[in-house]
Amino acid sequence: MKQTIPIQPASDDDTMVSLYAAAKKIYPRSVEGVFAYWRWLAVFFTQIIFYGLPWLEWGARQAVLFDLEARRFYILGLVLYPQDFIYLTGLLVIAALSLFLFTAVAGRLWCGYACPQTVYSEIFLWIERKIEGDRSARMRLDDSKISISKLSKKTFKHVAWILISLWTGFTFVGYFTPIHELINSAVGFQFGSWQLFWVLFYAFATYGNAGFMREQVCKYMCPYARFQSAMFDHDTLIVTYDSERGEPRGPRSKKTDLATSNLGACVDCSLCVQVCPTGIDIRNGLQYECIGCGACADVCDMVMNKLGYAKGLVRYTTQNAMINKWTSKQTLIRVARPRVLIYASILLAIVIALGTSLAMRIPFKVDVIRDRAALARITENGSIENIYRLQIMNASEVEKTYQLSVKGMNGLELVTDKEVKVAAAQAHWIVSRIEIPYGSSEPGSHKITFDIKDASGKDVVHEKSVFIVPR
Ligand code: SF4
Ligand code: SF4
Repeated sequence: MKQTIPIQPASDDDTMVSLYAAAKKIYPRSVEGVFAYWRWLAVFFTQIIFYGLPWLEWGARQAVLFDLEARRFYILGLVLYPQDFIYLTGLLVIAALSLFLFTAVAGRLWCGYACPQTVYSEIFLWIERKIEGDRSARMRLDDSKISISKLSKKTFKHVAWILISLWTGFTFVGYFTPIHELINSAVGFQFGSWQLFWVLFYAFATYGNAGFMREQVCKYMCPYARFQSAMFDHDTLIVTYDSERGEPRGPRSKKTDLATSNLGACVDCSLCVQVCPTGIDIRNGLQYECIGCGACADVCDMVMNKLGYAKGLVRYTTQNAMINKWTSKQTLIRVARPRVLIYASILLAIVIALGTSLAMRIPFKVDVIRDRAALARITENGSIENIYRLQIMNASEVEKTYQLSVKGMNGLELVTDKEVKVAAAQAHWIVSRIEIPYGSSEPGSHKITFDIKDASGKDVVHEKSVFIVPR
């Protein structure tokens, strides 16, 4: 029997429910400890490289320069052309595999210690603390009415943030335009429009992401946070709260004897929440917002120390270690599991392949293009002639002389220059005319090969083409 489901008309007192919730500002408390030390080490290491590399000289040029206009990429002793794109692909594959490997071993190591979002948030937060004070002082300042002191602190902070952001944007562009030229342009306010755009764009992104967005980038914008769980397993090291040891949580006096009281080790001080840059409570278990920075582990160790309890209530451990109560040694042995070994072997194989390929790379390239505008023709001396355009790219730092020859047909002869000089790191176009005696070959298309030899005779490039014999 057919049933009719009556549709109820909306009642007048139905209210609109907004699903929007404004983000609550997080005031992370400063923390000291072993993981904070490693995080700051990563900040110094990454930033010394980022800010310092464009100033490093290699001979007469910038050591690392991606000259998009000239289509040359200089990386220390290497001169790469767009044709060397395979190396960039290899580097990206290595970066992705390294990320998989580190994530499988120790969770979000990249997020917690080396990601630019973490690094710049850490730097901006340090400036904020120096000017406005630690967590409670900053909260009080934000709640206070407008005053000269508040205004000057905020202005000072934003000026410092903007200066760092501009320097970061400037440095970023310095990887694509020689940084000494760039600084001269900056001094004379003579930036090109694209240079100015990218300096300001990158500065704006740094200022916005590290000054305001902070943990929201990790929570809502970063795709890595979404798929990282696919690389986790029960033997991945993650920051974990030992609930068996910590519960029941609760405040107590320093004299309370843990053995006789009905309390766990957690004193419910909430310091682990206060130091968390994403504002979560690690005691609620593994959450996707956790970037694995270890700040909660550091602060909890401090609390445990003060109370005379054993450290490690919040610590890096694995789910299996927690369930099976493994020692640190037993836990670390599980690091070398099949998934990790597979990632590590593939990574090693690609690193070796890329390194070997770079070491054996011939330091020049040749492109041969048959000149389609000038068809095959019969010359005044009765030979058949085809014309080609050759681009010879010198990928070394010295001027080179190259010897050209051609083979593949009876009587084939290169009648134009057989030697070409190409300046260091330059590409040179030449027109080559090739002839065969009339009647020496059948009409049609014939395969031929250009041999281009470095004058030292060590490196040779073979480029295939065709020779057309008209009917
Ligand atoms: S810092 Fe440690 S003791 Fe304090 S609330 Fe967090 S887990 Fe408990
Ligand atoms: S829960 Fe701990 S490890 Fe995770 S983000 Fe917060 S402070 Fe860092």
